[in-house]
Amino acid sequence: MFSKDLFQESKKFIPGGVSSPVRAFEPYPFFVKKASGSKIYDVDGNKYIDHCLAYGPLILGHADPKVVREVSNQLTIGSAYGAPTENEIILAKEVVDRIPSAEMVRFVNSGGEATMSAIRLARGFTGKDKIIKFDGAYHGAHDYTLVKGKPGEACVPDTKGIPLDTAKNTYSVPFNDEEALSDLIQKDGDNIACLIMEVVMGNIGCIEPKKGFLEFVRKITEENNILLIFDEVITGFRLARGGAQEYYGVTPDLTTMGKIVGGGLPMGAFAGKKEIMELIAPNGPVYQAGTFSGNPISVQAGISTLKQLDDKFYKDLERKGNFLRSNIQSVIDEQGYNITPVGCGSMFQIYFNPAPVYNNEDAHNSDAKRFLRYFRALLKEGVFIPPSQFECNFISSAHTMEDLTQTAEAIEMALEVAFKK
Ligand code: PMP
Repeated sequence: MFSKDLFQESKKFIPGGVSSPVRAFEPYPFFVKKASGSKIYDVDGNKYIDHCLAYGPLILGHADPKVVREVSNQLTIGSAYGAPTENEIILAKEVVDRIPSAEMVRFVNSGGEATMSAIRLARGFTGKDKIIKFDGAYHGAHDYTLVKGKPGEACVPDTKGIPLDTAKNTYSVPFNDEEALSDLIQKDGDNIACLIMEVVMGNIGCIEPKKGFLEFVRKITEENNILLIFDEVITGFRLARGGAQEYYGVTPDLTTMGKIVGGGLPMGAFAGKKEIMELIAPNGPVYQAGTFSGNPISVQAGISTLKQLDDKFYKDLERKGNFLRSNIQSVIDEQGYNITPVGCGSMFQIYFNPAPVYNNEDAHNSDAKRFLRYFRALLKEGVFIPPSQFECNFISSAHTMEDLTQTAEAIEMALEVAFKK
């Protein structure tokens, strides 16, 4: 069956035909047959250079041979034990060695589970109930953060099904806005347990913190007994060996991870100072648990991936990112398109917006419809990126310079189509 037919069939049995909403795009998503390295192949016979990379986990590209070999070996000796393994210690040591804020780590099954657990832990540690997030940040599909609000006011649910009573414990303020954050903390800091943030906003495109913003956030949270949680589900092991906190040189109290930490298999983790982490069950009073937590398959994939990621690896990846970004910039300069390319390390995006983008409101001033024309044209040119202006694109070590040159050429063609009158 072709993708078009599979989508019709899928919609009969799976709501919207997909297992996660962003995967559905018009007129229908391609259905995947297989993937290898930097390429993904659909059932219709097309091959794409993949810059979606499963929304971030595949820093080595698809089906990395070492990961495949070691995970396959593990599969033959069991996929879940409900009892601890030495490999969990090996992976925990890797995380602690790399991530500046990590003294201890607990493994979970997804990024959303990691942020949910870290927020509970922050509440348990501080004895306070309220939390702060930034507008447009995504921390998973749970009730604590799938909310929205005006600065200084209690949030309301951002989806049906979340009680107002839950949403009102969260505040949301604009990213990169020191004044809004400072006003809020002055007003209600005594009731705020934690501030959770994506260091680089990867769920409304790709927005870096302004110079000095992270230092400001670190200082004001510390002064007000508010735990700072860096949600590094995307940036962890992506921007540097030690994630965004190493990249920007600011250390939070807790860090949440996902995606890369599981080497392409489902996994998440949260980590932090020993005195905080020791509060988790069974040692402490903050309950947290999971049947598949620390499962041997994901743990092995995590180990097999992380051990390939040294400082040189990140230098190479950043060089590739810079190469692609400068090629995109040249196209934009030559053609005089009024759009804003962004990115850092191996993350990139183009805002269909002439002005710089510092926060959620700026991002939403972009021409998302024109972006979709660009997305569809890119697909025709054999390049797959997430089908949304409000996602981030990625590069893996499997992408060759030839791939990236091809991507840049495809972007040139796709922009031409997007801007055709
Ligand atoms: N935090 C961030 C920053 C994310 O990007 C995501 C997923 N895109 C999550 C949390 C949730 O992770 P998961 O989908 O694994 O639950």
